Amino acid sequence: MRSPIPDYLAEALSHVVSNTSGAPAGYIPELATADPRCLAAVFATVDGEVYGAGDVDAPFTIQSISKPFVYALALADRGFDAVLDKVGVEPSGEAFNEISLEPDSGRPLNPMINAGAITAHSLTGPEGADPAGRMARVVSGLSAFAGRRLETDESVWASEMEHAHRNLAIGHMLRSHDILTDDPHTVVEGYTRQCSLLVSARDLAVMAATLANGGVNPSSGERVVPSPVVRQVLSVMSTCGMYDAAGDWATQVGIPAKSGVAGGLIGALPGQIGIATFSPRLDPHGNSVRGVSLFERFSSDMGLHLMEVPPAARAVVRSNHVVGAGQDAVRVLQLQGGIRFAGAERVVREAVETVRAESRVALDLTMVSSIDDVARRMLLEVARRLTLEGRHVYLVDPDSILPDPDPGDGGQVVVVADLDEVAGVGDDR
Ligand code: GLN
Repeated sequence: MRSPIPDYLAEALSHVVSNTSGAPAGYIPELATADPRCLAAVFATVDGEVYGAGDVDAPFTIQSISKPFVYALALADRGFDAVLDKVGVEPSGEAFNEISLEPDSGRPLNPMINAGAITAHSLTGPEGADPAGRMARVVSGLSAFAGRRLETDESVWASEMEHAHRNLAIGHMLRSHDILTDDPHTVVEGYTRQCSLLVSARDLAVMAATLANGGVNPSSGERVVPSPVVRQVLSVMSTCGMYDAAGDWATQVGIPAKSGVAGGLIGALPGQIGIATFSPRLDPHGNSVRGVSLFERFSSDMGLHLMEVPPAARAVVRSNHVVGAGQDAVRVLQLQGGIRFAGAERVVREAVETVRAESRVALDLTMVSSIDDVARRMLLEVARRLTLEGRHVYLVDPDSILPDPDPGDGGQVVVVADLDEVAGVGDDR
């Protein structure tokens, strides 16, 4: 059988191909020459599958889509405090190249506008890194996100530098507030070079999937940045990634995203997929016209809006029944799926409401796929309280989904690989 997913993507492209509104970015002369007919869409799953349609390997410059990734590198290299000291996380609702800084501190409002991104660039690599060292870190870091070595388009870089008066002005303002401590011209050169890295829609989808996958590149298996960094980056993307169109995007599409003036657009849906589109014509916000339209379609066709999630709790308790009778009776709570707070609350409630005369209780985790930290603590607390009531508690956990279970403070659990190992249960089944 042929996978229907590339066919779906090709069909989605056919719906937007007639839309020729907007124009390639004009303020960087080299970008104005882009072929406006180029069009691509790529999905990369968090387990390493890549689907695409259209010009998936056509190269273009990453531009502002570099911003979330370089912010991630700065956070990983310098730590949260050092970065937050110099770049805020508040949506500005302004254009990407607005010359705006916080009035007192001179701090850029967020790392997705140019002022914040230029500052984030200066915070990559170890403290005291020289411009070449910073650039090497940016190239190797972004290459790790993409899973292949990326290179700069020197002509786009040179073309942008010739007209970089606005970014240079921003750089000098940042320097006057001591937000930049190096020569602003050199930092803006580095930032512009970062924007000139060549990528394809395929690369961008894998980079987005690395964010969706908590910082591990699903194609190469490499951990690129720690997961708390990814949480920070995705949060900032979801509030500031689309500049002055951020509110429209959050409601219509609901996927943390970032656009670039060369026509690229990425979205990273945590735990599910990275998406990338490429089409050079831009709307007045500087976002790809067809890209925005494709994302709206993807989000509604496939229920990808972040605020639309399945009722996780309802299905966690697969069954709740008693096996055996009298002294041998065991109350069995058979759990399934991924358990987080709401699912664990459901288990707590079943235990409170249904465990009665049974002196033994088994939590069967055989069909559980994941348990987060709060759910783990809640299940162990259930075990501890049941022990204190004088009951024996068993965890049926053949895959060690809940390793080293220690309920603490008088609690006790016996781990078994199969319910039949709980004495007396196998006999009457
Ligand atoms: N290099 C571009 C700039 O700084 C990036 C802007 C963008 O992609 N929105 O102006």
